[in-house]
Amino acid sequence: MNAGVVVPRYALSMQNVDLRLDAGWIIPIDPVGALAGHALIVDGGRVTAIVSTAEADAGFAARTRIELPSHVLLPGLVNAHTHAAMNLFRGIADDAPLQAWLEQHIWPREAQFVGPDFVYDGARLAAAEMVKGGITCCNDMYFFADASARAFLETGMRAMLGLPVLDFPTPYAADADGYLQRGLAVRDTLKHEPRLTFALAPHAPYTVGDPAWEKTVVYARQLDLPIQTHLAETADEVARSRARSGLTPLGRLHRLGATGPNFIAIHAVHLDADDIELLATHGGHVIHCPASNMKLGSGIAPVGALLARGINVGLGTDGAASNNRLDLFGEMRLAALLAKVATGDPAVLPARAALHAATLGGARALGLDHLIGSLVPGKQADVVAVDFGGVDAVPCYDPVSHLVYATGREAVTDVWVAGKRILADRILTMVDEGAIIARARLWQERLR
Ligand SMILES: [Zn+2]
Repeated sequence: MNAGVVVPRYALSMQNVDLRLDAGWIIPIDPVGALAGHALIVDGGRVTAIVSTAEADAGFAARTRIELPSHVLLPGLVNAHTHAAMNLFRGIADDAPLQAWLEQHIWPREAQFVGPDFVYDGARLAAAEMVKGGITCCNDMYFFADASARAFLETGMRAMLGLPVLDFPTPYAADADGYLQRGLAVRDTLKHEPRLTFALAPHAPYTVGDPAWEKTVVYARQLDLPIQTHLAETADEVARSRARSGLTPLGRLHRLGATGPNFIAIHAVHLDADDIELLATHGGHVIHCPASNMKLGSGIAPVGALLARGINVGLGTDGAASNNRLDLFGEMRLAALLAKVATGDPAVLPARAALHAATLGGARALGLDHLIGSLVPGKQADVVAVDFGGVDAVPCYDPVSHLVYATGREAVTDVWVAGKRILADRILTMVDEGAIIARARLWQERLR
């Protein structure tokens, strides 16, 4: 070193990193609160630190630095219930009750059209919609999961693939054994993909009989896989279950051994006090899908009571055939508003709780909270940037409140998964959006 050259002391400890994101606010989620004047430091696909701008200047030399002064950064949203391929059915049969909708509109079309091409094109459409709306991980449930997996991986997302189980035949499998074998073969092929995980997904208590549930429970235990199912979605489902078995749908699944910390109950609209106690004591998770429940006239899930009892709640959109948007900002807002309408209590599901459900709550339900769901050092750098610079978002006194009540998915500008920028200034970087739209239009002609 030449005499007389003064090396700043901090330079000696400067850490080289991949990415530095300076933002107006950062919401790490755990705890749910906003940090102003901070930078998110990312290296090797993981969050390294969230530090003040001055600490970032002193401690980190980033190969890429992006300044987003009017934006808020938050962890990628987790859409904890989807049927991604059903995006090709969006709006095909609206305003019908669940059973008629399934039996007259959806199942006949699925029998005729659903195959690997349909699933791949539909899931690509869904993945593109989700990423543009700030969703970095979904929990999917559909046939030909290998085709949807390809779509999620190509788009840059993470996904949990729910391997479907039904008792009746479809083009995918003939009986429950066939569904289980096909699903587990997909898992065997793809289990080393770091952005994929798997669950067994019996469609519902009323479409899967006791023998198939028992087999599912055995496989889930042997392979340490979660079980996810549509549960107590309508009052009619609960009445039929009580008439047939003397038990609620959840009570029956508990008797069959399906409940526990790896159990994911989707919808859970019509739970009685014993059901809630059972979920609380056995550690099950609930995925609340307010838009789907409202649109099908199913009812209002007791989310306030679930949270008060310490039950983990995530949020899901359900498929675009019943919702019709894969919009988790919309679900956060609906969840918060609907809980207030249902209870007369404006504090029952505050914005913080809605945002928690859309991020860490969903991640926990999927068993992924050690990797995603919050921005803390060591976790994956799955990050969303939302622009608060528009006329619909200024002034901003509370960024968490804004995310739930003021802005929407249209304000999402950038998305990173494992530190990779998969949406850049509203442009998908991994896939050709025009080609995805063209394929959807072709399917529209066939399905009409
Ligand atoms: Zn569903």
